[in-house]
Parts: sequence; structure tokens; C-alpha cells
Amino acid sequence: MSKSSKKISAAPSWLGLTPNRLSFVFLPDRAETLRKIFQLAIGGLGSYAIASYLDEEKVPTFTGSLNWDHTTIDSMLRNRATYGEYQPKSFAAGHKRGIPSGPPVSSYYPAVIDKATFDAAQVARQQNLSRRGRKGNDLANIFGDLCSCAYCGSKVIFHRISNVQVLVCDQVLNQGACSRSAWSYSDFEITVLAFLAHPALLQLSRSELKGALLDLVAEIKGLSSDRERRYARRVDIAILLKRIVVGLAIHSAGNLSLTRHSSAQIRKDIAGRFLEIQLQGGQSYPCISIR
Ligand SMILES: [Zn+2]
Repeated sequence: MSKSSKKISAAPSWLGLTPNRLSFVFLPDRAETLRKIFQLAIGGLGSYAIASYLDEEKVPTFTGSLNWDHTTIDSMLRNRATYGEYQPKSFAAGHKRGIPSGPPVSSYYPAVIDKATFDAAQVARQQNLSRRGRKGNDLANIFGDLCSCAYCGSKVIFHRISNVQVLVCDQVLNQGACSRSAWSYSDFEITVLAFLAHPALLQLSRSELKGALLDLVAEIKGLSSDRERRYARRVDIAILLKRIVVGLAIHSAGNLSLTRHSSAQIRKDIAGRFLEIQLQGGQSYPCISIR
């Protein structure tokens, strides 16, 4: 495909065409929404939960319709154009949607996410589908895209290492140079929720939200056997957290004297790890792991 060829007009819904139709351009708000959808999926939200989350947050749809539809979310999560790939198709009689014709063309579209993010979302989707099909899933990560790395500023993402769930810097997973330490997810969640439940924080500017959060946290403790309800309440917690917290900067390797070589295995739970919680309204607090 030569650089000068005209692009097809049917661009993915998060891209537009330049007036001369020679190249694609991001529609910035949509690209941002698409990235958020992938982060939420990797965090364990299914397409229904992502749709209701986006509705709650009043994120505009790409079609002008009032509400997000879970099938749209799911097809975006499976769309390889998100990382730039284009699959030529032939439209023989009887094939309205086209059948793949020839090898896929990489870097045809500007990539909104990288291939590793796409792959991580596929794994999360499959796990989510199979578990929800069986018994109803627990929402794995209630922090969505709130976590960032205190050392390099990259996103800290939810990651499974065999059966262990951890939060780890995106740079590390993409072979970048950052602290190869992770924070086991269950410990992180307990630490942050215990911090937010502290009586000294009751003076928050958004104390009504905090009251709602504490009620939800208390409620899910009694829901271990009711998985569907537990899942729904954890989605509610994830939505509330986004209204209370601006960001969580994670110092997963503590003071960094224990920084690991870039070829090292990801090691979790280093003593001295902590995070900085930045609340809506501007206050920021250090928060030390409770274990
Ligand atoms: Zn980092």
C-alpha cells in the first residue's frame, strides 16, 4: 500500500480523514474514550459493565445515540484497527460483511493502543466471558485507569501472573526501563479502601460520595456468596472511586534502592511500597501498605 494512495472513506468510528483523504487523523476525545474502554476491559469489566460505566460518566457515544451499547463496546475491543491493522476484504455476492482477502496490512491506521494492550484485553475478555458464563464474575480491578507509576509517569495496569493478580508499570510490561516491582492487587485494594475509610477523611469536600462508598464497601463484605450482586456493587464502587479520587501514584518499589534489572522477573510486594492518593478537590496524601 503506497503512502499516496487514497484511503477508504469508511474509517473506524474513532478516526477521521484529512480533507484530501490521504491520511487518517484521530478524533482526540474518541481516541481517549477508546483507550479508556481497553483499560476498563483489562481491569476486568465486561462489555455490559463498561457500557453502564460510560453512561454513568456521561461519555458521549460515537454514533450520537443516547446510551452505550454493549455490542458496540465488544466489537471495538475485538477490532484490530485499534492498533493500526487493516484487513482487506472482498465482497463477493452473498457476503455483505466481506471476507478477508490477502494478508492484513499493519500500520494502515494510526494506532490508538499498542498490540500488547490489545492482546491483554483479549485475554481479559475471554476470562470474563468464561467466568460470567459459569457463575458470574467478580470485578477484578475496581481502580480502572486511576493508577500511575510514580517513577516514570506511565499507567500502572492490572496484570495476571499465572494465578496472582498484580498492579505493575506499563513500561515494564512493554520492555521499558522502569521498576520491575509489582503490588499484589488484593493487598493494594485493602490498603486504599482502608485509607479512604479513615475517620480523618470524613471532612472531604465530597463527603456524601464517601458515605456512599463506605456503605458499598460494607455491603460487599456480606455478599461473598451472591456473585452477581457482588459484581454489580463492585462496579458501583469503581464508578464512585472515579468521582472521589483523581489519581493514585504508585511507588511499588518503595524508595527505589531495590530497583531491579530490566531483565529481572517482576517481583511483587517489596517492603516500603506506598502510594500517593490525590483526591478530587486537590488534597493529596501518602498512603502506606498496611501489610
Ligand atoms: Zn514506571
